[in-house]
Amino acid sequence: MIDLTRLKELCDKLGCRMITECPLSEYITFKFGGPCRALVSVNAAKSASELVKFLRSEGIRFGILGRGSNVLAADEGFDGVILLFGSDHAGISVEGNRITCKSGALLASACVHAQQSGLTGMERLFGIPGTVGGALYMNAGAYLSEMKDIVVSAEYIDEQGNICTMNAEDMKLSYRHSIFAEKDYIITAVTMELQSGDPEKIKAAMSEYMHKRSDKQPLDFPSAGSTFKRPENGYASALIDQCGLKGMSVGGAQVSEKHAGFVINTGAATCNDVIQLCDKVKAVVKEKTGITLELEPVVLK
Ligand SMILES: Cc1cc2nc3c(=O)[nH]c(=O)nc-3n(C[C@H](O)[C@H](O)[C@H](O)COP(=O)(O)OP(=O)(O)OC[C@H]3O[C@@H](n4cnc5c(N)ncnc54)[C@H](O)[C@@H]3O)c2cc1C
Repeated sequence: MIDLTRLKELCDKLGCRMITECPLSEYITFKFGGPCRALVSVNAAKSASELVKFLRSEGIRFGILGRGSNVLAADEGFDGVILLFGSDHAGISVEGNRITCKSGALLASACVHAQQSGLTGMERLFGIPGTVGGALYMNAGAYLSEMKDIVVSAEYIDEQGNICTMNAEDMKLSYRHSIFAEKDYIITAVTMELQSGDPEKIKAAMSEYMHKRSDKQPLDFPSAGSTFKRPENGYASALIDQCGLKGMSVGGAQVSEKHAGFVINTGAATCNDVIQLCDKVKAVVKEKTGITLELEPVVLK
């Protein structure tokens, strides 16, 4: 049983908002998931450090959430505390060609800031939902551009709760992978380096990439984006389409008719529906093509 009274006292001291028995369906873009015991909205790196030290010393299980756009939350919920990096920790500053974002800043807001400051290099990332912290953790990318191309350094909390910094070359950034995922480090700020550019041209490119997304992706349904990682030789969506799986469904989860790489929530999908559907897709693709698909979204456990 979690002693929420002491956690609440700490949150009050730190000025962090805390909600109890909070439905995770409201915090993930797939729109399902049971409650967590408490959700704490982090407001500073120092607060994150104190919270981690407290939770670890009390042996309380905790998880990290940004915008929840690459997460599956279990139907039975999360028996622990969620540290949310969102609007309470979302400052963005620009200095020369460098843009520094608190980890809860939306990636889209960072792109807009860069555009308004005449900085090019983030256009292709515009439209990826989620926070800057989540984007670095996942090494998010699109249209042949990824966080790895622009990140210079990050501030993070290590296992002991210390506030540390790391340079990009030590982050082990590769396709949808980072050292932060390997070690469960918590990202509190990210600095990216861009180049000078024409704000109007940057704006036009951002809008072009956004249009490409809305043309191809089922953005009118809840989802976690691409459900499977790109296999070595090819694209998950092409393989799924080739296997005739568009429209296949389990409960409220469906392989999108618009984009076979997306599993969507047609209204009342549960986490179990999505997992069962993904297992079926993987089994058929394996049987018909010999290729093993791997889930991209992270299961909050
Ligand atoms: C419609 C749609 C389109 C998408 N398109 C793309 C795309 O083009 N390219 C792409 O790469 N992704 C895409 N995604 C997936 C997703 O948006 C990205 O992976 C995004 O970067 C996740 O950020 P988030 O803040 O939502 O992270 P979350 O989903 O909240 O978390 C993802 C993982 O990161 C961890 N995490 C989050 N914040 C932190 C932090 N501060 N410190 C440590 N760990 C943290 C979480 O614990 C979790 O394990 C798409 C998703 C949707 C719904």
